[in-house]
Amino acid sequence: MRAALYTGPKRLDVVSRDLRPLRDDEVLVDVEACGICGTDVHIVEGTSRSSPPVVLGHEYAGRIVDTGKGVTSHALGERVAVDPNIACGECAYCRRGLVHLCSSLRALGVDIDGGMAEFCIVPAAQLYALGEDMAPEVCAFVEPVSCAVHGIDKAHIAPGDAVIIIGGGPIGQIMLQLARVAGAAFTVLVEPVAEKRALAAASVASRVVDPHDTDVGDAVFEDLPEGADVVIECAGLPSTAQLALKLARRGGPVEFFGVCPIGSTLPLEPHQVYFKELTIVGSYINPHTFSRAIALLQQGRVVVKDFPIARFPVDGVHEALRYHRENRTLKSIIVP
Ligand SMILES: [Zn+2]
Ligand SMILES: [Zn+2]
Repeated sequence: MRAALYTGPKRLDVVSRDLRPLRDDEVLVDVEACGICGTDVHIVEGTSRSSPPVVLGHEYAGRIVDTGKGVTSHALGERVAVDPNIACGECAYCRRGLVHLCSSLRALGVDIDGGMAEFCIVPAAQLYALGEDMAPEVCAFVEPVSCAVHGIDKAHIAPGDAVIIIGGGPIGQIMLQLARVAGAAFTVLVEPVAEKRALAAASVASRVVDPHDTDVGDAVFEDLPEGADVVIECAGLPSTAQLALKLARRGGPVEFFGVCPIGSTLPLEPHQVYFKELTIVGSYINPHTFSRAIALLQQGRVVVKDFPIARFPVDGVHEALRYHRENRTLKSIIVP
């Protein structure tokens, strides 16, 4: 089968490889769609942790075409989404229920061969049944939606709140929709790319702001003189993280959801944190949120079918990454 194999910084090759036999608790998934995200780009650039050699791809879904002898919870032919994050179940964090903070966390597509391939071997415990209703490309969004759901849980949006999302990539667009689901009355997207602003304005954004064209603070304080009740940073830049602190009202939580480069820093005025009584929260991956992500997509509470996507075969993975880096599509998806 064809697979996108990462072997070390800046080294990603499409290779033909044989599949090993299944262990008793594993299934073989015929991959229908696998999304590419910023984490994949960071891994290939060597700026995000991984365990090469490894087949990339952690946002994927497909159909079960073989099962190990001990698998009873899923059947041949079933369509499934894959939660890529595998917690050990034994460390101090796992025993406190904080599986996403597991000291020995391993992930399919990061440490173990993932879904940018025609087939993928997956432990049955990582599978979630999808049914037949959603298009394959929509199924590839279950994992990013599950991460966004954890972010929304941690942001504590109350009904009627004004929420600002910084960054209008797939995650920012999903966050906007989830903020509405959580009860936000007024939502603002801050995003420099016109197409992404237009997409948000056509879905649920009350207002979109171009940071290259306007002073974001002035624009936001026009509508929200005190600042926003909740600010969620989804761009992953120190400058936008700093902006998030400025846009929050006194007492308003600020969430750093976007992934800033390791080692990057921002100037922080402790007095501002003190005087505004800010709460800065992080959000990391997707503990126990996969079922809710599937429900939100299946029930149309989160709608991704209108997102501009670009499809590529496994052999087109370099092109897919280039489309992502150059902002030529909202989402690159490998369709083996
Ligand atoms: Zn991802
Ligand atoms: Zn653990």
